[in-house]
Amino acid sequence: MAGDDNAPVRLSPTALAYDHFLLDLDGCVWIGDEGVPGAAEALNALRAVGKRVVFVTNDPRHTAEQYVIKLWRLGFQAAAEEVVTVGAALERLLSESFRPRNAFVIGTRALVDHVALAGMRIVNATSLAPHADLVVLGGHERFDYAELRTAIQAVSRGAQLVGTTRDATFPMPDGPWPGTGSLLAAVEAGTGRQADYIVGKPEPAMYEAARARLGPGRVLAVGDRMDIDVAGAQAAGLDSALVLTGACIESDARRSASPPTYIGSSLTHLLSAAADTQSTLGEVA
Ligand SMILES: [Mg+2]
Repeated sequence: MAGDDNAPVRLSPTALAYDHFLLDLDGCVWIGDEGVPGAAEALNALRAVGKRVVFVTNDPRHTAEQYVIKLWRLGFQAAAEEVVTVGAALERLLSESFRPRNAFVIGTRALVDHVALAGMRIVNATSLAPHADLVVLGGHERFDYAELRTAIQAVSRGAQLVGTTRDATFPMPDGPWPGTGSLLAAVEAGTGRQADYIVGKPEPAMYEAARARLGPGRVLAVGDRMDIDVAGAQAAGLDSALVLTGACIESDARRSASPPTYIGSSLTHLLSAAADTQSTLGEVA
């Protein structure tokens, strides 16, 4: 019931045993432009007892500061250093592993800025674009045929291909919207080549960036997708929790050969005392 969702959250002993929480944004904290019912109260409960939180998102469209503004607008307290975006993880990967080179970037201004800050020369909207040495792809809502053509030409000529994620879709109130993975698949189909690097969850770069913000301690990684959030946490050696407010249904998780440590119907139910007695925070492994 909505009334129960907004009640103060009393953390369960299981939740209290963790020091840090990695919280996925889409499908866990919010869906589209609406906060998940009760999620703000769950976050308040974590903060009230001094737990540290990092928000992690595979959405390549916005800056950490833009996510903080959205979090506050939807009723969540947050600071920019608590948000690890796939764009920030991409910038770190490129600056550490790539020499400066000509880059064609499909994505928002925020993503282009991350690539430029990593030392790459942006050749978007120039005659060099189809001859770029590096193609970076992050989904955005104005993706078009000309971008796909340029990316396919550059990669066919030997450019390295870096995708922010393989997330095929992301949840929105009217149903799934195509994510970076759907667009990346078009470039891969057009070139017969797989991406050279993927940055976002479930790849390790995101978890390394998040852990660097948290320091030592027990971490619980919470998200709404088995293939992204749970698989990524498991690969990073972290306990995982699946919430059912986004892309996944419970039977998928329970049938999985690698189930999450916990399953909760929502963030609140996952973390709250009530969950222990209702078996929604049950060990499934
Ligand atoms: Mg999600």
